[in-house]
Amino acid sequence: MIRILIVEDERAISDLIRMSLTRAGYQCRCVYDGLAAADLLEADAAFDLILLDIMLPGADGFELMEYIRPLGIPVIFLTAKNAVSDRVKGLRMGAEDYLVKPFEIIELLARVEVVLRRYQKLASTLDVGGLHIDLRSMQVFRDGQEISLTPKEYELLLLFAQNPGIALYRETIYQRVWGGEYTSTTRTVDLHVQRLRRKVGWERRLVAIPKVGYRLEA
Ligand code: CA
Repeated sequence: MIRILIVEDERAISDLIRMSLTRAGYQCRCVYDGLAAADLLEADAAFDLILLDIMLPGADGFELMEYIRPLGIPVIFLTAKNAVSDRVKGLRMGAEDYLVKPFEIIELLARVEVVLRRYQKLASTLDVGGLHIDLRSMQVFRDGQEISLTPKEYELLLLFAQNPGIALYRETIYQRVWGGEYTSTTRTVDLHVQRLRRKVGWERRLVAIPKVGYRLEA
């Protein structure tokens, strides 16, 4: 199981991150100040990823980074500041990525996944809803039979497969798969979801949520 350390002193944010990551199948550990993080890492450095707030009591995120770097654990900075200098500094210090608070959970999950994949911590296949998805070859199978999907259908499938049980807004789906601004007159999402359902046999799994969008029943 993938282990993620969350170093964030704002309880509400920390709790939200932990809940979301736990639901996505990660094992999480939370600490709320910089010194506690350093102590924990000294005793147990078996983490696959660290989410690191910058402004922390005890020791700040930048100070901790000096400490984490030799351990070779990838870091995503969480920063409340929109200051470019902070982000640049974080990346220069070896962080893999950063997230500016407040962020959407779906964005957090996506970035966590990208970093884990870069470090080859994630499996290259995904089994969900009776489908077997090979993320490297971008092939999708049901009962050993390959299902042919268009590139957009594949991206749509992956978005649901990687966020099981999570309600996805039409706007979010549109932005993630097609990019650009969603307007309520756009039926692209609905049409593609209908086609995808039929193609992969998710008629009952991919449920519509009135006024919101869709959710893949886990
Ligand atoms: Ca903070």
